[in-house]
Amino acid sequence: MSQVSIPFGLDPHGTEVPISEAIRGKLDYYYCPKCDNPLTPRMGEQRRYFAHKRGVLEDDECPLSSQRDVDRMVDDLRTSDIEKQESARQIRTYIGEEPGGRLRLFGVVPSTEWEQFGVAADVEALLQECTISTNGVIHPPTGRSFHPSEPEVLFELDPDAAEFTVTVDGPDHLESIVGEWSADGLSASDIFVGDQTRARRTHSKRQIKLGEWVYAVTDGSVDTLGEEMSLDTLGEWKILAFPAREDTTELLDTYGANLRTDEYGFEADVILPAEAHPTADKPIESPPGSTVLIGVTPAEEQDPMFEIVSIPKRKGDTVELTPTGPGNTRFYRTRVPQQGSKRVSVHQRNSSRHRLIHLHAVEAEDRQPLAESMYGDLGLEINQDGQSVLLSPIGEIQSTTIESSVTPATLPEMIDYVGPEGIELEIKAHFPLDHPEAPSFSRSTKDIESDLGNIGNWVMQGCIAIDVTFEGIGSVSITFGEQSSEEVKP
Ligand SMILES: [Zn+2]
Repeated sequence: MSQVSIPFGLDPHGTEVPISEAIRGKLDYYYCPKCDNPLTPRMGEQRRYFAHKRGVLEDDECPLSSQRDVDRMVDDLRTSDIEKQESARQIRTYIGEEPGGRLRLFGVVPSTEWEQFGVAADVEALLQECTISTNGVIHPPTGRSFHPSEPEVLFELDPDAAEFTVTVDGPDHLESIVGEWSADGLSASDIFVGDQTRARRTHSKRQIKLGEWVYAVTDGSVDTLGEEMSLDTLGEWKILAFPAREDTTELLDTYGANLRTDEYGFEADVILPAEAHPTADKPIESPPGSTVLIGVTPAEEQDPMFEIVSIPKRKGDTVELTPTGPGNTRFYRTRVPQQGSKRVSVHQRNSSRHRLIHLHAVEAEDRQPLAESMYGDLGLEINQDGQSVLLSPIGEIQSTTIESSVTPATLPEMIDYVGPEGIELEIKAHFPLDHPEAPSFSRSTKDIESDLGNIGNWVMQGCIAIDVTFEGIGSVSITFGEQSSEEVKP
């Protein structure tokens, strides 16, 4: 009898648990995603997998009878929740707060992509051929709203409508958007999760991260309001809003319909461009071609495999991120497209955990003015002799020499940190072989600018070079030229 190795099982909540997160010795706890029979975690030194419990399963009772069936099931999980919703023509619905605190309900459907149109196609004209009819939508979108230069199609919804529909009629070219998009109207058990600008309506099995905001749709019968909780109006509904925290776990039980914080899988934060909101579920607008850096951090003590999957998923373009050890951040570097949008999903293999990253090209002149250095740069800017050069672990130049004499007072004038806050840097200082500190020592910092005085001191005491490693991303190095010894004071 063949015994297939299954890489994940379902827990009693119906959540996929990758074998790497399975608890040893739990019997009759996990069950098969295809046949519902119990699975046993096999935690060998060489190999770990779930197997059907011995004796309960005859050969032909489970659709997973070969490794190929298993592979197909694993591949299925790679399709992101967003893509599944879009193929089912579902409107994604969100609650967001406007400045001033008023809640609004809005829907999102995808815009078109440039690739859908031929080189010679008149995109404007094709979109004008679309007719759009809606239900429950305030200010309906037009054909032009679906233009590929738009990151998405966003429209306000009437919270009291029984259902929401956006019906797009148009030329065959536009098959990705043509059809009836719909979503159910609000009901008293709906949960929205995200942040205060954008919280997505979600299903009950979702794992939730501490710190995320929860909006629970209620009929108004909420007993007491604790700190940081609020009860706001959205149409006829009362919306209870609170952050997911240790002390609001009880609220999650009452209003959160099985939302759980305990098995939250991973965080994927956009680190560059620095002005991007790190975790929001909304398009990141950046100049065409600019560098984007995404940090993916697994749950504590877990070392899973993450993959970057395109949306829509195309054969052969899944990128694996090399594991960097339990709990450690891995980085994925990509670029904003030259025009339109690029959407990828960060996926934890053998789970249905996905996180959307939506990058959208916007020419700099169409953006809010921001300091030039905020766009996609990371590194140390070295200023000497009236010239400045950016040493960047993701750029073209990784090393330079500072020729002029360095003191604790002059070095802070010469070096500026460029990049988002909070990236950990390791500074390794090198010394000549006859020096007491030889060959090197290392320090970690999240604020290198305040350490520059110290580094100036090291140089005066004989440090000949430093390497600066940006947390898992790469490193740059600075060599210090001949220092005149007469400036050294005890
Ligand atoms: Zn089975």
